[in-house]
Amino acid sequence: MSVSKPLPALGAGSPRSVAVVGAGMVGLSTAWFLQEAGVQVTVYERDHVAAGASWGNAGWLTPDLTAPLPEPAVLRYGLRAVLSPRSPVYLPLRADRQLLRFLTGFVAHSTPRRWRRGMAAYVPLNDRALEAFDVLAAGGVSGQTHSAGTFLACFRRERDAQGLLTELDAIRDAGQNATFAPMTGWKARAMEPALTDQVGAAVAIYGQRYLHPPEYVRSLAQAVRARGGQIVEGAGVADLQHQSGGVNVVCTTGESRRHDAVVLANGAELPQLAGRYGVRQPVQAGRGYSFSVPAEQLPGGPLYFPQQRVACTPLGGRLRVAGMMEFRRHGDPLDPRRIAAIVDAVRPFLNGVDLEDRRNEWVGSRPCTADGLPLIGATASPRVFVGGGHGMWGIALGPITGQLLAHTVLKGEAPAELAPFDPLR
Ligand SMILES: Cc1cc2nc3c(=O)[nH]c(=O)nc-3n(C[C@H](O)[C@H](O)[C@H](O)COP(=O)(O)OP(=O)(O)OC[C@H]3O[C@@H](n4cnc5c(N)ncnc54)[C@H](O)[C@@H]3O)c2cc1C
Repeated sequence: MSVSKPLPALGAGSPRSVAVVGAGMVGLSTAWFLQEAGVQVTVYERDHVAAGASWGNAGWLTPDLTAPLPEPAVLRYGLRAVLSPRSPVYLPLRADRQLLRFLTGFVAHSTPRRWRRGMAAYVPLNDRALEAFDVLAAGGVSGQTHSAGTFLACFRRERDAQGLLTELDAIRDAGQNATFAPMTGWKARAMEPALTDQVGAAVAIYGQRYLHPPEYVRSLAQAVRARGGQIVEGAGVADLQHQSGGVNVVCTTGESRRHDAVVLANGAELPQLAGRYGVRQPVQAGRGYSFSVPAEQLPGGPLYFPQQRVACTPLGGRLRVAGMMEFRRHGDPLDPRRIAAIVDAVRPFLNGVDLEDRRNEWVGSRPCTADGLPLIGATASPRVFVGGGHGMWGIALGPITGQLLAHTVLKGEAPAELAPFDPLR
């Protein structure tokens, strides 16, 4: 494991008071790492800690799977597949202008060449993603990360596993130290009695972790508070007003407070505040669903059904089942047809799991960019920074993002590994 660089201490020109907008994984990680250098942080959160995508996600810390979302297979799906409400990737028939702009960019980036370029950008972040969790743990964050043991991706037939094996080869070719191997269905079922005999093949991936998302994010909030940071819940930020020597953060209540700098980490709503500071990349809600169910025998770690695009994670004594990629407006109501589609997709593969006894049915918005790369760094204003747009991987990459972004805020320049994620690209 490489040793993480300490953050620079506050210099004469460094911001001493920083506002962070959004108390999700990315905002709270950034706040924590800013505190490492002695910055006074105030986190403004419209609802409550982990109110956004950081609540109901699958909790996987799987850097070996962390890759750009636009990939050549997306083009093979075809329009017919994505227009069905039962498809794991769903597009509404009536697309608005913003969605069309996002989709045009997304399709343009779904080529092998662009995917390779995006993947090469991810590798330095993926390499340090788990280490950043260890820094948080060593610094007193009580939330736990768990070894995923043998992380199992499950398929009906051996030939169905080929797509994932090819992708993992490409991830390894890009420089990621991914360790994986094909496994027979028999062996996978012997390891995980929760799998039925419909699982005829698997891919084992090693060295990954997972966490309990709401518990972890709350522990991060607790650590930020314990170090003197303020987290103001119920404080939606409506505007930022530049003043000489600072920025006024104006809340929807009309109250405002001055800070030296602001970090925007407000998830799928990032463009609403960042747009006026030159951030032109669309951020589209890639809505996902989850719920939890009881299991006679919980699996020892996460289970992945790539063809059904369903993720299962043992959390808090139940199995969290998550999936679906629905390109619809953030804030639209939960669509029960998507929950039904996830249930139907996963039912043949799970033994001893009561899919009817569902709790915490949830929909949340992955903040997706058209090129599949997050937005991390400075904007056109020297006092406004952004951290977000991680799509499927904001939990795994939240802490390393916070660490590198805090460095950028303090030094006024971004570390080299953030260059591809320039929010002004
Ligand atoms: C079904 C599903 C499964 C997933 N599984 C995984 C996984 O296994 N591993 C992984 O790494 N990632 C996963 N993800 C993705 C991950 O959840 C997101 O990338 C991540 O949570 C984004 O974090 P964030 O902090 O950027 O945004 P959010 O968690 O959405 O936080 C943004 C916060 O900003 C607040 N906010 C918005 N506007 C304002 C405003 N104007 N003023 C104040 N506050 C505001 C919101 O209330 C919210 O709390 C999954 C996502 C889904 C939907």
